[in-house]
Amino acid sequence: MSSTRDFIEKDYYAALGVAKDADAAAIKKAYRQLARELHPDKNPGNTQAETRFKEVSEAYDVLSDAKRRAEYDEARRLFGSGGFRPGAGAPGGFPGGAPGGQPFDLGDIFGGAGAPGGGRAGGLGDIFGGLFTGGAPGGTRSRQQAASGPARGQDVETEATLAFDEAVLGVTVPLRMQSPGTCPTCHGNGARPGTSPHTCPVCNGAGVTSRSQGAFAFSEPCRECRGTGSVVDDPCPECKGSGVTTQTRTITVRIPAGVKDGQRIRLAGKGAPGRRGGPPGDLFVVVHVSGSELFGRSGNDLTLTVPVSFAEAALGTTLTVPTLDGSVSLKVPAGTSSGRTFRVRGRGVHAKGTPGDLLVTVEVAVPARLTPGAREAIEKLAAELPDDPRPEITEVLRSGGAR
Ligand SMILES: [Zn+2]
Ligand SMILES: [Zn+2]
Repeated sequence: MSSTRDFIEKDYYAALGVAKDADAAAIKKAYRQLARELHPDKNPGNTQAETRFKEVSEAYDVLSDAKRRAEYDEARRLFGSGGFRPGAGAPGGFPGGAPGGQPFDLGDIFGGAGAPGGGRAGGLGDIFGGLFTGGAPGGTRSRQQAASGPARGQDVETEATLAFDEAVLGVTVPLRMQSPGTCPTCHGNGARPGTSPHTCPVCNGAGVTSRSQGAFAFSEPCRECRGTGSVVDDPCPECKGSGVTTQTRTITVRIPAGVKDGQRIRLAGKGAPGRRGGPPGDLFVVVHVSGSELFGRSGNDLTLTVPVSFAEAALGTTLTVPTLDGSVSLKVPAGTSSGRTFRVRGRGVHAKGTPGDLLVTVEVAVPARLTPGAREAIEKLAAELPDDPRPEITEVLRSGGAR
């Protein structure tokens, strides 16, 4: 992976021997030819050829990718021939950057090391973005340009606990979300209200300073103002001068019907707001669904067990059965066995597509204790029931028992 530093120091066009405005086909052709000539298999032990082969490959990697080529061209245009020459051997290294003498990557310094000013408007990313976008409107979007152009808001993940019926039927819930945002007290400039930041005296507001090192000049983010170009004397008490605070907002989201426990649902555009006119991120909600004391769930079907008396099962009855939205009448025909399941269509999970059903299983309840009268009545009943309730088992026993 080539770094910004590579971009500044290396001339990829020269490496391939092509003109700076060479088209993709010319670049490909030049690369193929050089790669054939310089290939290590053809030049065993020739370290010079090997070095050239690597150069050519690296150059082609960058120049064959339109996006990276545009970034490269831009980096060269801005820093390539000028005084900006990050030196690997610079004594003391880069302030705030890599420790003494280590090579560093410009992208890291400008993109990442602005961390203290993080998401703050006017941070290092913005300044670098400004440098990169200057004079190249409508160019290929580079990472640096993205930092100053519209930025999509972050995706946010949160959790919601739903009651069983809410998950089945769908529900609208308020969700409290926390995300960093512009401090409302100082409107993001970091200064105590009534005061204002003043222009940084060190860099005169430029955000960058230059430093001579022998024949070379270095540009670096101003340490006084951390590259923002302004200095706050009296920091905002709310955000301690950072310009950013954690903000809580409550949003109302519709959880679709039929979500399951542990499911992660995506709500497009409900994440953190975009910056500088960018679109908002997405919101992911991990749902926790409480169990129901009454209903079970099997896919999109709901299950319910309803005890019935022997008399109801034998004589038939009409049951009133609860569903998640109102109750329904269920006709149980005479002679219904315990364990029989009836299907109530459309009263299951209200998911998109085919709605689920409610599966009602009747279970004959047997009284644990009998009054003397009940016992007498049942004994009479038993005498009145001639049928063997288990003829198949009787048959097996008669023919010599189960094997
Ligand atoms: Zn503030
Ligand atoms: Zn400054």
